Amino acid sequence: MLCSKVRMALVHETEEVSSHEDMVGAFALLYHHVFSFIKPMALKCVVDLGIPDAIHRRGGAATLSCIAADTGVHATRIPDLRCLMKLLTTSGLFGAATTADGEVVYTLTAASSLVVGPRGLSNIVRFEAGPVSVTPFFDMPAWLRTAPAPDAPKSLFELTHGRSRWDPANADDDTMNDAAFAESQLLIEAVLSDHGDVFRGLTSLVDVGGGHGSFAKAVATAFPNIKCAVMDLPHVVADAPIADGSVQFIAGNMFESIPPADAVLLKYVLHCWGEDDCVKILRRCKDAIPARDAGGKVIITEMVLGSGPRDRNVAETEEMHSLFLTCISGVGREEHEWKKIFSDAGFSDYKITPVMGPISVIEVYP
Ligand code: SAH
Repeated sequence: MLCSKVRMALVHETEEVSSHEDMVGAFALLYHHVFSFIKPMALKCVVDLGIPDAIHRRGGAATLSCIAADTGVHATRIPDLRCLMKLLTTSGLFGAATTADGEVVYTLTAASSLVVGPRGLSNIVRFEAGPVSVTPFFDMPAWLRTAPAPDAPKSLFELTHGRSRWDPANADDDTMNDAAFAESQLLIEAVLSDHGDVFRGLTSLVDVGGGHGSFAKAVATAFPNIKCAVMDLPHVVADAPIADGSVQFIAGNMFESIPPADAVLLKYVLHCWGEDDCVKILRRCKDAIPARDAGGKVIITEMVLGSGPRDRNVAETEEMHSLFLTCISGVGREEHEWKKIFSDAGFSDYKITPVMGPISVIEVYP
């Protein structure tokens, strides 16, 4: 009964796109989707070539021939380079102006400025648009048809790469920790400049799944009285840059135990896991911290879907990010979903503070 109702609704919709204008719109929308994969590829290409840095070195504006000369693009490929720059100009990553003698000068926009310099977000682009992240999506139909079983792959990532996202073998061929480092800098600045109160009064903090310790280091620098530690898997901790003593690195498994501290920080950790695993991790966090009136809390930075300033780009980015997470069997969550996990793990209360677009700091109290 329901199926035939659905069928009627669909037939009705199909009839509605039968006018010429609607067909043109439908065709344009379909083509837009088909070719959308080219955007991250183009962005990754300019990042790999070092084009935003080259424009920056030329004072923020450069002609195509200057860009080519600075980045090793062969003179015969300049028409292709023009095509690349035109796309990214149309999509807002670069600006373009024509000089009196007819030459086009490309400029950085706010978005491409973010990938300039060693602290820029270029590694995020390399990671998200790189082959390790992209290739699993070719296997998505097979993944969706895979029934859970003890010997079946546990995630789309595992189906494609034959190992878990957290397998030490990934350390050689992916850029996740470099990407995390760059992104952390930006987020830390946003958190510390406007929301530093989150850390005030703490005497110790352990950043669980803290990777190479960029966030913990920034907290230790801004708050020298907080004793900061990072706990991550042994191979991640072993690869962390030589510690300068400001942060202690601890190898461990967050599903087993977490070292005691006033606060546990979980940055982009819980979105990698399903509900049951999140509850397990949070229970270990609860064991590690003191009671609320003694200052105990868990500090989470994550997207809270549907929060923050809204526009179509934000909504679509949230959905794309959630689908990206499904690759590792991770989950994007709305506030009510976060709330359920916190209460299932035995926490009494939480406070969400939006920091950067849909990214928030969530303080969770025992
Ligand atoms: N907090 C960092 C990294 C997030 S990615 C950032 O914001 O960029 C998730 C992190 O969890 C990775 O560093 C991964 O190595 C770590 N991780 C995965 N499984 C873990 C486990 N069982 N115990 C501790 N850390 C783990």
